[in-house]
Amino acid sequence: MVNDSETAVIALGGNALSPAGEHSSIGDQFRHTRASLGAIVDLALDGWDLCLVHGNGPQVGDELVRNELARAEVAPLPLGVLVAATAGWIGYMIQQSLENALRLAGCDREVATVITQVRVRHDDPALSAPTKFIGHEIAESRVPALLERGVAVKKDARGRFRRVVGSPAPLAVHEVGVIRRLVQSGTIVIACGGGGAPIYYDGERGWEGVDAVIDKDLAAAVLARDLGASLLMILTDVDGVYLDYGKPTQRMLESLTLAEAARLDGAGAFGAGSMAPKVRAAADFVRHTGGRAIITELARGREAVRGAAGTTIIAENA
Ligand code: ADP
Ligand code: MG
Repeated sequence: MVNDSETAVIALGGNALSPAGEHSSIGDQFRHTRASLGAIVDLALDGWDLCLVHGNGPQVGDELVRNELARAEVAPLPLGVLVAATAGWIGYMIQQSLENALRLAGCDREVATVITQVRVRHDDPALSAPTKFIGHEIAESRVPALLERGVAVKKDARGRFRRVVGSPAPLAVHEVGVIRRLVQSGTIVIACGGGGAPIYYDGERGWEGVDAVIDKDLAAAVLARDLGASLLMILTDVDGVYLDYGKPTQRMLESLTLAEAARLDGAGAFGAGSMAPKVRAAADFVRHTGGRAIITELARGREAVRGAAGTTIIAENA
């Protein structure tokens, strides 16, 4: 059992819940969700205070398409609102699936979703330079028509065409106080879903939403820092951070120092909008808190906490 005060923030990949190559039905998404919670149950049984952050890249892109297709019948919702919408239904899926899994394992801890707003700069330059992949793979034949309509589309690290949107840097988690109180009381909290709905302060109107998608890994790092977590674990669909990713010479790194991470990131070794934000998020957390950050595959969470899997970001070589 860990000490009462030890908190772990776990970021779950949206692609792990709904793989970008698959047209997932809600049944598929519940199945992936149930399959992905084993490591979380293990950490709950080990006594960690837990906060989960999930991505929404595939789902929020699908919501945009749904809204666009239905626009003749019902007014479409803007992207910022769709981030909150997906955080609601993905939170519900995780909440229900996790409660069932905890009860099967004989654990009576409660689970709650907090729809979270995350503060950004309204003039963040990232808002006008789209890098964040959303939605599922788009057939190459459809790409020219989308580009003509002003929809930004790019190839992701696996060579799939997908939509891209602006992704501002998270500055602070608006609801951190309520999240902290819940986490410290033993509740497993699902927060900052989809990176959180981006907001900024307007002198006249107060808090206002922004139509963009914050990277959930960067949001998780800010949340972990502000909660005083000792562990940030980023769970995704690859077993760790690779050098030469996608080449015959690729190899996984067991550890990565802050200096190496910055150098490799600068040299473009990590996919923009996919692995690069995970490495940056993990490095930010380690630099600011001295805590532990691990990037690994969903199924390997518990092993990784024991140091037996994944890539651990460390301050410097021992
Ligand atoms: P998530 O939904 O978990 O955020 P992402 O697709 O955003 O998942 O990021 C994980 C992906 O990053 C992997 O599936 C892989 O294709 C890609 N990637 C890019 N560069 C690397 C690298 N250097 N090492 C490992 N994975 C990488
Ligand atoms: Mg991602």
